[in-house]
Amino acid sequence: MEKTSKKTNIPGSVAEIAGVLRKNGFKAYFVGGCVRDLLLGRDPKDWDIAANARPEEVMKIFPDSFCENKFGTVGVKAKMENGETEIVEVTTFRKEGKYSDFRRPDEIKFAETIEEDLARRDFTVNALALNIAEGMAEKIIDPFNGQSDIQNKIIRAVGDPRERFGEDALRLMRAVRFACQLNFTIAEETAAAIKEKAGLLEAISKERIRDELQKTIMSPKAAGGIAMLEDLGLLRHILPELREGLGVGQNKHHIYGVWEHNLRALDYAASNGYSFEVRTASLLHDVGKPRSKRGEGPDSTFYAHEIIGGKMTARLLDNLKFSKETVEKITHLVRHHLFYYNVDEVTEAGVRRFLSRVGVEHIDDLFKVREADRIGSGVPKAVPYKLRHLRFMIDKVRHDPLSPKMLKVNGGDVMTIAGLEPGPKIGRILAVLLEEVLDDPAKNDREDLKDRVFALAKLSDEELEKLAQRAKKTKEEFESGIVEEMKKKHYVK
Ligand code: ATP
Ligand code: MG
Repeated sequence: MEKTSKKTNIPGSVAEIAGVLRKNGFKAYFVGGCVRDLLLGRDPKDWDIAANARPEEVMKIFPDSFCENKFGTVGVKAKMENGETEIVEVTTFRKEGKYSDFRRPDEIKFAETIEEDLARRDFTVNALALNIAEGMAEKIIDPFNGQSDIQNKIIRAVGDPRERFGEDALRLMRAVRFACQLNFTIAEETAAAIKEKAGLLEAISKERIRDELQKTIMSPKAAGGIAMLEDLGLLRHILPELREGLGVGQNKHHIYGVWEHNLRALDYAASNGYSFEVRTASLLHDVGKPRSKRGEGPDSTFYAHEIIGGKMTARLLDNLKFSKETVEKITHLVRHHLFYYNVDEVTEAGVRRFLSRVGVEHIDDLFKVREADRIGSGVPKAVPYKLRHLRFMIDKVRHDPLSPKMLKVNGGDVMTIAGLEPGPKIGRILAVLLEEVLDDPAKNDREDLKDRVFALAKLSDEELEKLAQRAKKTKEEFESGIVEEMKKKHYVK
């Protein structure tokens, strides 16, 4: 077993870095999240050291290290027991100068003491330092009573909360994020200051907001976190569209209003440890309901809310600078969350068309969102018989050819066989072939398809279009089912 520093479980190679700094005559402490996590008995995510060595001095001592950012943080490599390399961040003691833009200090000043360095940190639970010097008793430096706040599970700003949020408004969201990750509550005065300063979030970059939101959603208390963001007046600056559901009631098929239903769906997804995409799609799946609502009371309807919701989702996630893939994935899940299935009515071809449309790679996540939707509406069973049967049908057909690239002929083959130049006609022929193969996978035979290409090439564009449409009739069968279900669920007459 790797030698760890006694009591603290700091890996030997990590503790060694602080030791080497000390041997070179510097003061070096573990600081921030790792000390907090050690005291909580959690595994620290990363290791941060604060030292009175200047960045260039740190780099001289550790030749393999590199400068990470403009604040002079130096990354030092530590070889872990499992053979992986971890980067330990060594930062020079710092105090921060004046802030004039609610984001960044105007200048960074190096400090002489660890106490000054701790005073610039955001919350008392993050403003702890640990001295593990050899031959000394391990000692916690705790000028702001962070240990007592850890014990009482409290997030409290260091010093005057109004001032601290005024310096860096991202701390408004960090307070909520830590409360959710650690299952802590926010101290009264700190919470009051957040409410007062909530508007400053507008000065923060979308990327930093995105990262904090993502961490909050990935915490086990995700739904509580969204509710907390709302209570503290922050959500209007992050996800204003979600707030449209506040106070919007549903119809006789629902016991919860839109807002609470969305939160309950997220809660289900988070407590099952689902991915960020599934959690976020669960939170947003009904975001389009307020705008699609017609009528009031038990007979109100939400026709096409998944289409409106899909568009809203794409826009709001894009605005928060999520990656293109993330935006597309979550939007797709929201857009298709409302699929319908009736055991007796749907054929295997219908299921293949459904899979071809939503993408077989999304189907498991789509089921998870559907599950979150059901549980979030207060219906006790996550997977009722109909959905289990659909699962069974999907497993039966999921390896059938479902996309153009699974056809036994490709665009190049079509051009050779039919003597065609590249152009839209190739795509039209492939579309007809796919529709026919979706109807009957046995038709995906290279020789048969070649014959078919030969015949199809003689048809006009209009005739090809018509053939593709006719083959799609089973899809319509499946989709008209959706309309039927929506009529039932949302009470359209
Ligand atoms: P995590 O487990 O997410 O890494 P952490 O507490 O380590 O949590 P980091 O964002 O890695 O959080 O920051 C490391 C430390 O730097 C914090 O514990 C805190 O002391 C300080 N810190 C980070 N961001 C800020 C900020 N915006 N304002 C003040 N102090 C900050
Ligand atoms: Mg950290």
